[in-house]
Amino acid sequence: MEEKNKITQLLHTPYEKEDAYHSLAMPIYQTAAYEFGSAEEMEKAFCGLSSEHAYSRITNPTVQYFEQRVQKLTGALSVTAMNSGMAAISNICMTVAYAGSNIVTSSHLFGNTYSLFKSTLSAFGVEARFCDLLSAEAVKAAIDEHTCAIFLETITNPQLEVADLRLLASIAREHNIPLIADTTIVPFHVFHAREFGIDIEIVSSTKYISGGATSLGGLIIDYGTFDWSCSPRLGELAAQVGSSAFTAKLRKEVHRNLGAYMTPQTVYAQTLGLETLEVRYSRQASSCLELAKRVATLPQVCRVSYPGLENSPFYAISKEQFGPCPGAMFTFDLESREVCFRFMDRLRLIRRATNLFDNKSLAIHPASTIYGNFTEEQRQSMDVSQHTIRISVGLEAVEDLFEDICQALS
Ligand SMILES: *Cc1c(COP(=O)(O)O)cnc(C)c1O
Repeated sequence: MEEKNKITQLLHTPYEKEDAYHSLAMPIYQTAAYEFGSAEEMEKAFCGLSSEHAYSRITNPTVQYFEQRVQKLTGALSVTAMNSGMAAISNICMTVAYAGSNIVTSSHLFGNTYSLFKSTLSAFGVEARFCDLLSAEAVKAAIDEHTCAIFLETITNPQLEVADLRLLASIAREHNIPLIADTTIVPFHVFHAREFGIDIEIVSSTKYISGGATSLGGLIIDYGTFDWSCSPRLGELAAQVGSSAFTAKLRKEVHRNLGAYMTPQTVYAQTLGLETLEVRYSRQASSCLELAKRVATLPQVCRVSYPGLENSPFYAISKEQFGPCPGAMFTFDLESREVCFRFMDRLRLIRRATNLFDNKSLAIHPASTIYGNFTEEQRQSMDVSQHTIRISVGLEAVEDLFEDICQALS
């Protein structure tokens, strides 16, 4: 049979194990533990010699089916569903890093990821080396023999900066370091991480996949492309299991010990979103491009950032990596913080909320909220300005969104 379209495949992924009632949607197996017929079967399950479910902190039928569908779509070696994007990022770090190691990254990061690197991991002897990922020289200079990962966001938020991923992947390869990317801003049916040399992909599925802001979730996607044999942390395991060393370490140790697996209730909500992701994304991203173009014509607006705009410094590289509409988020600058606050207060349709890629459009003033607990100096080093408004574009008509922005600016 011919290879079907990826979305078709995703929708029709068969269950690995038969459901007793042949239900068309995957049931919610809201259950913690599973019974075995014999001590021997139990031993096999616990020692990894069979794939039976034993305990839902480790695997659960509903969650596993969701993971398999994402795996089908991405062609990954393994997918692990966590209960938030931050759980996914912290589990990855706990799998690859060790005391005395460092992570080469940028200070242009989602606020909690920055804080995880800067404050939490540093207490365990893991150093974050913040450098300019747009500069090959800066990246090379930051790397040393204890670098355990290069970590980046494919489109940074809220700066909307786009690094050359193939260039970073070649530097990572040269130094035998895995390239780990947070790809939340452009989903995996559009951006094919593996083709750009990304070894491990992380997605906050709270965003596009949940869609209606129904649930938190995070995905760890391992492409099995990295050779871990030189890693001080995973080298020994790589000698036994080869390219699946990361997945083995994560699934058999870290994820069990930290206990942040996605719950079956959440999977139910996220599955509804996953099945309609493609249609929602294409509408939201194309609306975003159109809205950004229209907002750029307004006299009160000093600057509009969206990598899909031709005057963006990242237009060419963004188009190559993400296509013509790189995500459904754009930012614009107004005259001052006060003008930003007034704009926010006057919005009637666009909702004042954090979160991204809800079906409804959302607005936020990042400097006073997501980055509100940082010092002004830190904010400046992260290029988070008091003048910037961030818009996440939903499924409304562009006309209505533009009208709301215009009335809020007048
Ligand atoms: C939201 C977000 C996260 C964190 O995800 P949660 O699901 O909120 O834990 C990480 N990275 C990016 C780019 C995000 O937008």
